[in-house]
Amino acid sequence: MRLVTFRSDDRERVGVIGEDETVVALDDLAPGAPRAMVDVIAGWPDIGPRLADPALRALAGTPLDRVRLTAPLRPRRNVFCVGWNYAEHFAEGRAIHSAAGHAELPQHPAIFTKQPNAVIGPDEPVLHPGAHSAELDWEVELAAIVGRGGRDIPEESALEHVFGYTVANDVSVRDIQRSRHGGQWFKGKSFDTHCPLGPWIVTADEIPDPQVLAISSRVNGETKQASNTKHMVFSVARIVAELSVGMRLHPGDVILTGTPEGVGFARKPPEFLSVGDVMEMEIEGIGVLRNRVAPYGDKP
Ligand code: MG
Repeated sequence: MRLVTFRSDDRERVGVIGEDETVVALDDLAPGAPRAMVDVIAGWPDIGPRLADPALRALAGTPLDRVRLTAPLRPRRNVFCVGWNYAEHFAEGRAIHSAAGHAELPQHPAIFTKQPNAVIGPDEPVLHPGAHSAELDWEVELAAIVGRGGRDIPEESALEHVFGYTVANDVSVRDIQRSRHGGQWFKGKSFDTHCPLGPWIVTADEIPDPQVLAISSRVNGETKQASNTKHMVFSVARIVAELSVGMRLHPGDVILTGTPEGVGFARKPPEFLSVGDVMEMEIEGIGVLRNRVAPYGDKP
């Protein structure tokens, strides 16, 4: 099942995409269902079974291309991220990592976060950092959405805690990420609008194995990254297990699982994004997340 968040009468609602590519509001299908995706995910053990009736799914909806999608969910906590999770991506930046004391791939996933307010949806503008930096970069990533929470989740059963998946773009301001704040990545990864998610959440039952998905990115139609999630160093299950060590995960938590090789800073010569550039992030079985770079002064 594909779930969206869309704008209707100036409010956000959760919708279900039917087989005819129309969107039906979830609370029309399941009266009383919450309007925020995070609450829907938390209530899914009750809501999900109510959607199984084919008569409900046959309700006529609004064509998808006439619906204004927003971010599929609004995280209520920091967005969790994994760095260096594709060996080739680690290798392409090795000179820089080595200078910072990271010559070899870590034995446990490198974890950092992005601020939740950085999240935007499909077709919403990504703000260029303007005078703050010229080093705006893209990173396509598979994002796992936590369903059932838990702490100290075993790797063997970790995928049972994943509600679904979406496409993420871990937009990064490289010079600020690397060197301006004591080597901590949070600030350079957390500019407003620098966490596009979408275009929808595909529930985990439709992606039984998240480690077999083609993953790619394009800038202005030119392919920049092209890999497969089978090349992840740490699987989604391992990441969920490691992240939950001593720290409870909650329904609706978002986990970005790292980007493959082909990002801008590591290209020869380096390439960075300019105002007007269009980024398209694509993952097999999910879809395409498209965002344009807008001038710093633009809203939001
Ligand atoms: Mg990343």
